[in-house]
Amino acid sequence: MGWVADVFSPERLRRLPGHRAIGHVRYSTAGSSNLRNAQPITAKTARGPIAIAHNGNLTNAEALRREMVREGAIFQSNSDTEVILHLLARAPAGPLEEQISHALRQVQGAYSLLILTRDAMYAVRDPNGFRPLSVGRLEASWLVASETCALDLLEAKFEREVEPGELLIIEDGGLRSVRAFPPAERLHCVFEYVYFARPDSVLWGQNVHTVRKEFGRQLAREHPVAADIVIPVPDSGTSAALGYSEESGITYEMGLIRNHYVGRTFIEPKQGIRHFGVKVKLNPMREMLEGRRVVVVDDSIVRGTTSRKIVKMVRSAGAAEVHMRISSPPIQWPCYYGIDTPTRKELIGASHQPEEIRRYLAADSLGYLSLDGMLKGTGGDPSNFCHACFTGNYRVGIEPEATPQLALFD
Ligand code: SF4
Repeated sequence: MGWVADVFSPERLRRLPGHRAIGHVRYSTAGSSNLRNAQPITAKTARGPIAIAHNGNLTNAEALRREMVREGAIFQSNSDTEVILHLLARAPAGPLEEQISHALRQVQGAYSLLILTRDAMYAVRDPNGFRPLSVGRLEASWLVASETCALDLLEAKFEREVEPGELLIIEDGGLRSVRAFPPAERLHCVFEYVYFARPDSVLWGQNVHTVRKEFGRQLAREHPVAADIVIPVPDSGTSAALGYSEESGITYEMGLIRNHYVGRTFIEPKQGIRHFGVKVKLNPMREMLEGRRVVVVDDSIVRGTTSRKIVKMVRSAGAAEVHMRISSPPIQWPCYYGIDTPTRKELIGASHQPEEIRRYLAADSLGYLSLDGMLKGTGGDPSNFCHACFTGNYRVGIEPEATPQLALFD
């Protein structure tokens, strides 16, 4: 449990035998922060040990789990990933790649998976391609990571993405590809572009920073304002603020400094700590803000509490006017596909109109990027993106008892 750098000390890493590995960082949450839910999850099966790391969220896990429990299965955790492990164990005998395809044809939702056995590593992406998954090469080794920035860090060469519905098998002889599912509509998570992915990653053929800048440009076209400076909420609003500044001609400035030694606020489990987190991690620069009409750019508004504090902070530092600009539409619906969003009643965009939100934030004006503007800014085919958290249009079925992951960010 804890930060990766604290848990995996060089000493511990040296003690790990073998030449293949998988790992997964799972965000700490209030309700399910225990070791049993830590990934990768492992099991001893008839064909040897198996380990699974899962990025995403299944939408029919509860129904599958209930059925299997009725038939006598015993679950060790409450994670949806364990459902996949059970389905694998029950698959008809045959090569593991066929068992994986058989198991995954029964699940719905979002998954980018890595499965490790003694002999091979399997990388598979759900047929809709909700979450990213990239393949890289470092000399004779293959690497698979959610984001390409992880490959850069290791100085590996990005080869390509795992295609939606593709199963890659990496074994001593090299890499093989299998089409595990019939083709399905693409539903790439647009929120990866808005916030989740790192700006230095390449996702769906585009550099994330470049897409965010385009969101900012579009935002400036949709919501212009007379102002002296544009400042980002660092780091989530940085790329969009640059785009807003370039398009509007308003000077880009640093008005808030982020303390990089304090964790991202959304991984703090308790509301009280989270609120404190905002205060200690951002520091306004009076010299830049005093007497100025300021455009503050951020990527999204979730509960609204953070944005409200930021407006107050900028105004207290002497800003003459504070104009909030948000590089995505109002978040109105929870995500069931693996991004940790609060419940609907906690989402300020679900229950309030933009003008009411502006009043709550105490901003002089508030402008959200439109859905069309955002989808256009991706540079891709708009129909290839999931935008359910903005529109409620869940295009992959959600069973009635499906739950979004626990509320984590703001
Ligand atoms: S609902 Fe939103 S966060 Fe979830 S996959 Fe769709 S776009 Fe991404």
